[in-house]
Amino acid sequence: MSRISYVNGKYLHHNDAKIHIEDRGNQFADAIYEVVAIEGKMLIDFELHIERLFRNLNELEIDLSLSKKVIFFISNEVINRSRVDRGILYIQISRGRATRNHSFPKNNPPSIIISSRATKFPEYALKGIKVKLMDDLRWKRCDIKSVSLLPNVLAKEQAIRAGAYEAWLVDSDGYITEGSSSNAWILNEKNILKTTPLSNKILGGITRKVLKEISLFNDIEVQDRAFSIVEAKKSKEAFITSTSNFILPVTYIDDEPIGTGESGPLFKRLYNLFHTHLSIQRKNNNIF
Ligand code: PMP
Repeated sequence: MSRISYVNGKYLHHNDAKIHIEDRGNQFADAIYEVVAIEGKMLIDFELHIERLFRNLNELEIDLSLSKKVIFFISNEVINRSRVDRGILYIQISRGRATRNHSFPKNNPPSIIISSRATKFPEYALKGIKVKLMDDLRWKRCDIKSVSLLPNVLAKEQAIRAGAYEAWLVDSDGYITEGSSSNAWILNEKNILKTTPLSNKILGGITRKVLKEISLFNDIEVQDRAFSIVEAKKSKEAFITSTSNFILPVTYIDDEPIGTGESGPLFKRLYNLFHTHLSIQRKNNNIF
């Protein structure tokens, strides 16, 4: 079945969906992106993703003439034309095509691409995943969801080669910032549920935000507090959150088990609460 993707005003067969070699996203990683989950053909938490997308455009001074509503419309067209029931939507916006020069081109239209694909939820990972600790080698604006992901890519690859599912990145003070493509959480020895606070050291994950709200609504206190390697290794439970994985239990950090080495009761509760959120979202997608 053919996938249909959107490139700068056109819906194209996925194999024909191309961008120019002098696009600034290609030459300078001068681009931002979003990944949105699709469940039952519905875009999950789209308004939060589109809000973050516009914040990032604003940070990089990329002037997009399309409205949030139009992007929502195109996104649904791409999903429907590609017949994706469960999967992910990818949106990328660059500063556009221009003769190579570091400084910003003047009056240049941005490039926008939107694609979708079917994915399977990694059921096997619900038993628990291993994370590998690694130095955080990234730049000082990790709050911007830019396509400049080389340190993340290298960290993920190293983690996978070590038999882990994800890397946990550690700053120069020994604190865990986040995963290569996910946010980090622990339930520490004293039963305090912590997730790394928002700053320019991490991406403000949408799943992190939603899970925090759901937790607070259900009287589960979450603290935005940094945690060290030592604290993480002694924790009772640990998790990662992201759009593509929702919430997964971390049962090993390097080769040391967390708690019993199996997913714990808090994970199970949060997982169920998050899935209730997904089923509500599946029924209520008419946001504009
Ligand atoms: N941190 C990083 C570095 C990521 O790449 C991602 C996934 N895009 C996340 C956190 C999780 O963010 P979200 O929940 O919005 O997918």
